[in-house]
Amino acid sequence: MARALEQLAEGVHYLPGAVNSLIVEGADGQAVIIDSGLDQGQARQIAKALSSLGLRPGALLNTHSHADHCGGNAELLERYPDIQIYAPPLEAELIRCSELEPVYLYGARPPGELRNKHLQAQPSPAEPIGPGRQRLAGRELELIPCPGHALNQYAVRIAGVLYAADGLFGPQVLAKHPLCFCQDSALQKRSAAELGDLQGVRLVLPGHGDPSADLSGLAEENLRHFQETSARILRCCEQPKSAEAIVAELSSASSLPLWYLDRSTVLAHLSELISLERVDWKLSGVPVFCLRLP
Ligand SMILES: [Zn+2]
Repeated sequence: MARALEQLAEGVHYLPGAVNSLIVEGADGQAVIIDSGLDQGQARQIAKALSSLGLRPGALLNTHSHADHCGGNAELLERYPDIQIYAPPLEAELIRCSELEPVYLYGARPPGELRNKHLQAQPSPAEPIGPGRQRLAGRELELIPCPGHALNQYAVRIAGVLYAADGLFGPQVLAKHPLCFCQDSALQKRSAAELGDLQGVRLVLPGHGDPSADLSGLAEENLRHFQETSARILRCCEQPKSAEAIVAELSSASSLPLWYLDRSTVLAHLSELISLERVDWKLSGVPVFCLRLP
């Protein structure tokens, strides 16, 4: 179903969807695309939106390497062969070698079910770009590091709008995913808090969810959710348990790929709890995790 382009600020538009994409007007009829979405279908919507605005894309920025944020790259590259693709360092490498995404989730080359478009985009030639103020397609954007959900990730601030990528999730997404995916839960919490403290943000748009004028409220809600996840995992460790047993207790996954995402999230929180000396782990046939006694 065609989705309507919405304007967030002068020259800043977004395509609402399961993953939001941003189109920022640059100089001389150029545009910057931020996140290309899951697949060809979203890339086509972006191309349609660009032509309705009379713009041609000069640059494409992927906030991080997850397939639902860069899965449209290949189609956009085919339509606009001169487009420059950028991503945070490390994430750019993963976008170039996209087969690594299902491998790191599974721990080896996985069966085909984990190599679908949700977990493996077509590779594309992303170049690393540093944080801070950067000029793309003649427009200055501020790239703000917000790692945690992904090992390295940028939010983008422009014209009073913060595109939070997956640094912050909309309330409905949080409610739907009791285990909200992360690769480093300590950094995920720190990034949510830091994004919430940013000044001069009139509107925040999460990668998944609706725009909101209440940045600090959204950040607090995310932080609470992530802290509650740690607390629930800690309670699971009252009896020694394997990571898989904890996932079985807390996950509401309805498919194998979702189960693997939940397992990564549980392992990330367990790493944080071990480094905080709240949990011990030992090998007992399988690795088991238990509360650390004072
Ligand atoms: Zn993501």
